Amino acid sequence: MKKIALLGATGSIGVRTLEVVRAHPDQYAIVALSAGRNAALLLEQIASFRPLAVAVLEPSVAAQVASRLPKEDAPQILVGMDGFVRLATREDVDTVISAMTGAAGLLPTYEAIRAGKHVALANKETMVMAGALVMAEARKRGVSILPIDSEHSAVLQSLRGHPREDLKRVILTASGGPFRDIPLEEMEYVTADQALRHPNWEMGRKITVDSATLMNKGLEVIEAKWLFDLKMDQIDILIHPQSIVHSMVEYKDGSVIAQMGIPDMTIPIAYALSYPRHLDNALAPLDLKKVGTLSFKSPDLNRFRCLKLALDAATAGASMPAVLNGANEIAVDAFLAGRIGFLDIPDLIEETMHAHVPLPVESIEAVMASDRWARDRASEILNRRFT
Ligand code: MG
Repeated sequence: MKKIALLGATGSIGVRTLEVVRAHPDQYAIVALSAGRNAALLLEQIASFRPLAVAVLEPSVAAQVASRLPKEDAPQILVGMDGFVRLATREDVDTVISAMTGAAGLLPTYEAIRAGKHVALANKETMVMAGALVMAEARKRGVSILPIDSEHSAVLQSLRGHPREDLKRVILTASGGPFRDIPLEEMEYVTADQALRHPNWEMGRKITVDSATLMNKGLEVIEAKWLFDLKMDQIDILIHPQSIVHSMVEYKDGSVIAQMGIPDMTIPIAYALSYPRHLDNALAPLDLKKVGTLSFKSPDLNRFRCLKLALDAATAGASMPAVLNGANEIAVDAFLAGRIGFLDIPDLIEETMHAHVPLPVESIEAVMASDRWARDRASEILNRRFT
């Protein structure tokens, strides 16, 4: 029986994770849940899963939750980053599912690893910002970090049973998002609503915009580099509009092992929980006759400048990926708020990166300082140029 703390319970990954847990009550128990501001959904989850503790972002949300809990057997309520960390490091938890959005997920995930918890990781920002520190800490504590990301789950599956020294490269696939084929001139005018309509995947707002800019793929390259100990020239990207081949591994002799499946996050979530086993589920099977054609092409880095910026940040290393990520979060928020256009997103990130002198990533505090620097700088540029 795995005893789980789920960070980000009310988000898209959190909700599906709880469906997996609900379907396999003999294997997984929810000990603790965290949410941001969605008190209503958290209350439903508390009623269904009876956690011993919950954590929310703000005191006002905590008060809202507390006022509607039954007097008997109510879970402990914790608040803020300190609350998330306490939840993730509880003694009665052995597995932490890290599914918060953005840089906020870094500290609780890192502290969970330091406390010896196994991690199922959906928060790719943790790897982007602090991959070297996180992997070193995981090795030191002997804990596993298993990806809840369809591409990395595919790579994990394609690596199994093959000697590591035979690996040549990893090929991450990308759907290309909703703007894959529209002319570049039109991209200037696309709205948040259009960006939020992903053709294949149902996800949260931030990652859906990241998928439209292909920043998500850039973040995934950095995630893959750390997770699988790869060099940058061992990672390639192919646009694959059908989202059926979730990624591939090529070996020295030219053999390419791919993992395929319908685009549904239930599969990578369940695999991260049940690794190396495959769990039953109620999803429709992949019907390749219906899919008919699988196509692949290279991404256009002139069109998707966020991807280029992410690759540059990965190559620069040190604190640059954290700065890329921080600036991107500010830019995506501004785009979703209607303050800036779609093509202003890479402009804002690029300007922030240009102003940054990379610093060594020696501690988690240093990483968080670079993140704050990037947010301040990006906000400053935003206020100067877009008000
Ligand atoms: Mg992904």
